[in-house]
Amino acid sequence: MVRRVAVVGAGVSGLAAIKGCLEEGLEPTCFEQSEDVGGLWRYTDQAEEGRASIYRTVFTNSCKEMMCYSDFPFPDDHPNYMHNTRLQHYICKYAEHFDLLQHIRFKTLVTKVKKRPDFSVTGQWEVVTQRDGKEETAVFDAVMICSGHHVYPNLPLTEFPGIQKFKGCYFHSREYKEPEKFRGKKVLVVGLGNSGCDIAVELSTVASQVYLSSRSGSWVMSRVWDNGYPWDMLVITRFRTWLGNILPRALSDWLYVRGMNRFFKHENFGLMPLNRTSRKEPVFNDDLPSRIACGVVVMKPNVKEFRETSVLFQDETVQDDVDVVIFATGYSYSYPFMEDDSIIKSRDNQVTLYKGILPPQLEKPTMAVIGLVQSLGPIIPTADLQCRWAVKVFQGRGDLNQPLFFLSSLPQRYGNSTTLQTDYITYMDELASAIGVKPNVLKLLLTDPQLALEVIFGPCSPYQFRLMGPGKWSGARKAILTQWDRTLR
Ligand code: FAD
Repeated sequence: MVRRVAVVGAGVSGLAAIKGCLEEGLEPTCFEQSEDVGGLWRYTDQAEEGRASIYRTVFTNSCKEMMCYSDFPFPDDHPNYMHNTRLQHYICKYAEHFDLLQHIRFKTLVTKVKKRPDFSVTGQWEVVTQRDGKEETAVFDAVMICSGHHVYPNLPLTEFPGIQKFKGCYFHSREYKEPEKFRGKKVLVVGLGNSGCDIAVELSTVASQVYLSSRSGSWVMSRVWDNGYPWDMLVITRFRTWLGNILPRALSDWLYVRGMNRFFKHENFGLMPLNRTSRKEPVFNDDLPSRIACGVVVMKPNVKEFRETSVLFQDETVQDDVDVVIFATGYSYSYPFMEDDSIIKSRDNQVTLYKGILPPQLEKPTMAVIGLVQSLGPIIPTADLQCRWAVKVFQGRGDLNQPLFFLSSLPQRYGNSTTLQTDYITYMDELASAIGVKPNVLKLLLTDPQLALEVIFGPCSPYQFRLMGPGKWSGARKAILTQWDRTLR
């Protein structure tokens, strides 16, 4: 029987893991190397070893109704998209509200996680931690890995000939904090992910010129969608997912490309993705098109070669006197505390996980990797449901006999270095139905048609997964029926 669960990390995934364990009567112990909860969202002026680092002006890309924990809506007066400090405040309130802090050992680094010799029978793990230089070892029945995936920079310098000769300064976007020290400089940002775009736009207010280099383009979306409503409340709906699944592929691709070009025509801005119908995560940036239109950000193709003070691009254009290069080239997964990290990562940095959570080759399903999948949807509700699913599986109560569905990834050069890409609603429903919390739309149509219509045509907000079944929350119905009111507030 699984009873004691070790949780590595107290970011948004780690908190969901602690709560998931408590809901099922398990005993979680969470180890967090830093001094507080929040992980990536806890801004510090200096990047800290082993923890994600964000720049001062990071705002969320997911709106408050879509990215909250499923039984803890944001307060009414919060804006739809939040500065990192507001989200961090919410995360702390969540931890306090559900009394999670008492289960966290702060300033405690997990240095080793290894199978016990009798693992094939017990499924137990040995977890070694370090606090104030003191080492401790404890045995746990299961481990939930919530250590984050935006920590270890992917900096493929060997793919950039001549970088050693370059006399300006260069660094990974992880080190970027604020724009002031780049005033008057010529800056090249490499990589068209969310960080690359944010940094390029921010620098364009102080730098003498910003170049943004992209190898394969990207869809750039606005947070503000039709009639000014949050994009995700209009795009992430059951009805649209259903339509996408039944329409012929060509028609669904055509509609997708049309929708993505609604904000502006990507081709005209040098941003058109090479694979235009790929559902790769888009970039969210309301200002990039206008910065390009004003000429303060100039789009460039892939870098061919760095020279001492200039950069040659694939289209044979040269930019002289470049002072700074920022590589916004994403992150690699790493689990330095795993004695055998091939349990999660197989060869070539490829990750294959059952339901995007369980390492498939373990004799006992007592390890869960949380928050690694990537979809158009927000991470907090995804991690929340993953944890609820994982603790059921630990207890032998999750349905592992469903058709096997593995998510696997291959490294990509730009953006997130490796991603387990999936469709948000399809994925959430798979997990939810395995643990009996998927909303029964037919039943709702008969018993509560007003709610049913909002569930089908409205945003697939996290509260939907607390309407019925284990872990049901009595406030879920009201939260769904009032979500637009809070959005307008
Ligand atoms: P993290 O937040 O990285 O937390 C991991 C924690 O584990 C840290 O506190 C770390 O100190 C701890 N830890 C790690 N290793 C150890 C160890 N060995 N021992 C002890 N503790 C350890 N997602 C969205 O859904 N919406 C958004 O708008 C959004 N915006 C983003 C913007 C940026 C710039 C970035 C980089 C990402 C964004 N994301 C967004 C994705 C983001 O990764 C998630 O929102 C979320 O923060 C991931 O949480 P996590 O708990 O899995 O990991």
